[in-house]
Amino acid sequence: MAGNITLTMIKPDAVKANNIGNILQMINKAGFKIVAMKYTQLSKAKAGEFYEVHKERPFYGELVDFMSSGPIVAAVLQKENAVEDFRTLIGATNPAEAAEGTVRKLYATSIGENAVHGSDSDENALIEANFHFAATEMHA
Ligand code: ADP
Ligand code: MG
Repeated sequence: MAGNITLTMIKPDAVKANNIGNILQMINKAGFKIVAMKYTQLSKAKAGEFYEVHKERPFYGELVDFMSSGPIVAAVLQKENAVEDFRTLIGATNPAEAAEGTVRKLYATSIGENAVHGSDSDENALIEANFHFAATEMHA
């Protein structure tokens, strides 16, 4: 794929609050190309697998319950410097610390229910894209 990719999920809180459209508009305005997208719901097992790296953290159970509690939008986004630029767009994990104008500042309600996921490295972006999408579902 030309340029780098990142994987995002619009989390159940933001879907429930009807913010899918607002968040996709921010993503497009920031210059990301959507190369894959689906509206889906994670089972507890799949949410646990996605966040396996956090298994030992005290919030893991709460995170898995939350991420499987309702539908999400998963998407692969493409742009130069995608991982870092997307994390700038979404803001800090804790919305109380997120910069003005970021997705989490605007739409997150707590450190757990924080509206969106963004990959933390190019390597994990590829792993996470392949977690959600078959090669035939990605259109670079
Ligand atoms: P980020 O999503 O910004 O990369 P992390 O990878 O550290 O953040 O954590 C993954 C997700 O786990 C966060 O987005 C959030 O939903 C949840 N989380 C992180 N820290 C906490 C916490 N202290 N309490 C509850 N949930 C948390
Ligand atoms: Mg993370």
